[in-house]
Amino acid sequence: MIHVDREVAYDEALVFYYMGSAAAHAVEVPNCFTAHILPEASGERPVQLISQMWPGWLHSLDEAELQRKLMEAMAACGVTEIAVKRKDAGLDNFALLDFNSWNFSLVEYVKDHPEEAAIDFQGTHYDDMICSMRILENPEVEEFLRRTLRNWYEKNQCPTHVVFDYEWHVRDSFFSCYCPRCVADFARFAGVEAEDLTSQRINEEFLPRWTEYCNHRVAELCALFGKLIHEELPDVRFSVYSGYQSERTKLIYGIDWTLLDGKVDFMMCGYGRNEKDLHATQEASRVSRLVTGELVLPDDISQNTAPGWIQKATLLRRCCDATGGYLVFAYASLDGRSFLAMAEVSRILRRFEPFFMTGRRRPEALTVSGLGAEEYEVLDDATGNSLVALMNGKKENRDFVFEIPIPEGKKLYDANGNVVACPVKGVLPADGIAIYVVR
Ligand SMILES: [Zn+2]
Repeated sequence: MIHVDREVAYDEALVFYYMGSAAAHAVEVPNCFTAHILPEASGERPVQLISQMWPGWLHSLDEAELQRKLMEAMAACGVTEIAVKRKDAGLDNFALLDFNSWNFSLVEYVKDHPEEAAIDFQGTHYDDMICSMRILENPEVEEFLRRTLRNWYEKNQCPTHVVFDYEWHVRDSFFSCYCPRCVADFARFAGVEAEDLTSQRINEEFLPRWTEYCNHRVAELCALFGKLIHEELPDVRFSVYSGYQSERTKLIYGIDWTLLDGKVDFMMCGYGRNEKDLHATQEASRVSRLVTGELVLPDDISQNTAPGWIQKATLLRRCCDATGGYLVFAYASLDGRSFLAMAEVSRILRRFEPFFMTGRRRPEALTVSGLGAEEYEVLDDATGNSLVALMNGKKENRDFVFEIPIPEGKKLYDANGNVVACPVKGVLPADGIAIYVVR
């Protein structure tokens, strides 16, 4: 991202670049390209919904002035929270929780209580993980976690949101313990003979039941962490990030969202939009709010593929699918088009926030021509007013006509608050979005 002075009177500029070698006393004849200067990002941050930016390695940034500039730019894009070293520009910070020794370390406890170490699939005792059953049943472990949590919170710049990124196969997760206690407990759960039950036999003969067992355990552990965080740090939110609800997610990521509902503040998912999995996740998030994500490729510097970007239409679609806002992965992959899309969609979220929180979707209320089924949505707020969202993710302009029943005493308004007549005829520009409200 290149910052341009806001007072410039031009909309494009030439950028010159060259390579040189001091050792060879040679420089290349400069090349140049035309840079198109985008309009200023004028996002507005929603209050209850989140717009979460995953920063990648940027979380290591410790140069204060550079970070301040970054945070101001993110605020202008409507971002509400980002995982960086310090708070700035009014943004919240979130921290990722895991059990590596440099993150939330359990090493000290395991050293003092080797008999409570977790045992992995190969039969090896962890030196940094406690048996997950002991975490749940031993008050001494809970007390240790409380103490560690307070230190961890200070060390991580007092985050406003703790996110547990949980994507572990039930066979190999550090929560999938194969100690004799856990194997016997699983045997009781599955109604099988505990004698001769080994991790290999569990994997080969009882994997579906083991998956179910581990999903329950992960949910109980998340509930425990949520309880500790809310008790020790009352203003801090606790969420879990994983895949959308599916049999695959239960197995390879260890998460069954139906067991986590109400135990986390946000269920955070990504990416893509598989309708079956999305619907199952929406069904699972009755109490906890759902945040859906957009992954921008390439997400690794070793990938030499054409740069992707976030379309406004895609981002608004994610927000219509969610009840808690959106997350973006990750900062380093983004360019000005993505930032402008975030700014525009965040403005919509801020102005029409209550519609994006209820999960009351009624696309069947709309009669539409010119747009496909994924390209429109009707969202009801808690008072029964409705928002119509139109999304054109295609590269060409689209003519549309829509009609929606307007109850007695209500009117249809455009996004600027002007009354419009129904049916509505219009043109959505390429990657264009439009909002109407019935109230
Ligand atoms: Zn165990």
